[in-house]
Amino acid sequence: MDLAPRSSTPSVSLLGLPTDEASSFARGAAEGPAAIRAALYSDSSNLGIETEGAGEAGLDLGAEERWRDLGDLDLSGGEATRAEIEAAVAEQLDQGARVLCLGGDHSITYPILRAHRGHHKGLTIVQIDAHPDLYDSFEGDRFSHACPFARVMEEGLAERLVQIGIRTATEPQRRQAERFGVEIVSRGSWLDLDALALEPPIYLSIDLDGLDPAFAPGVSHPEAGGLSTREALEIVWRLPGLLGADVVELNPSRDLSGITAAAASKLVKELLGRLLVGAL
Ligand code: MN
Ligand code: MN
Repeated sequence: MDLAPRSSTPSVSLLGLPTDEASSFARGAAEGPAAIRAALYSDSSNLGIETEGAGEAGLDLGAEERWRDLGDLDLSGGEATRAEIEAAVAEQLDQGARVLCLGGDHSITYPILRAHRGHHKGLTIVQIDAHPDLYDSFEGDRFSHACPFARVMEEGLAERLVQIGIRTATEPQRRQAERFGVEIVSRGSWLDLDALALEPPIYLSIDLDGLDPAFAPGVSHPEAGGLSTREALEIVWRLPGLLGADVVELNPSRDLSGITAAAASKLVKELLGRLLVGAL
């Protein structure tokens, strides 16, 4: 497949959202975007990727001009943060770009998906996560990083929510999943995507604690028994048509030798590839 001619309008925007005010246990995710970028642009690697669809030579993001890194959004904190995220993402979508956001904690996904309203019909969200993040409220905060998908489903921002990697579903969260018709993919079926009959458009939200701590120890809520980096990549490659994505919850203060940042950077590179050649 030939790439479309290069144009002055980049089609994918990478946007950092350095906020961890909605984290429930440990701060640190606000440092995530900088750590991912340090790995992404490190001379220890390059920007060649594996995503199929760009011909035998593959896709070299270093030579590809249809994406741009917008840097980090300047966030005011408090109530204003969500509105600022929503406005910034909406601005990119209005310009015709797809958006890949770097968290930040998982609270960012709710305003990101609000921004996507009106830019799709019948959205399916695929969430890779150890946690359902479906609490109605957590520690008194309805916008906690433990709650974004309750807000998303209440507002009807997606038609389907499919969760992969879940291994901490509590009774209140199971009730919420039932209430909203959330599909929690059972263990043993995490890579059985064909059975899900997923249809585009798809938004992929990757909480790095969905990965096993062996691959991604640098998160605030490590939970053993998760996906390998390779399994997460398989999901990235096999989803049929991406509208947008985020990679969240990297906590560099808990990382070991930058291994989690490296995993996040790899996921970001392949997501950029999918958004360029495997998108809608
Ligand atoms: Mn999680
Ligand atoms: Mn999460």
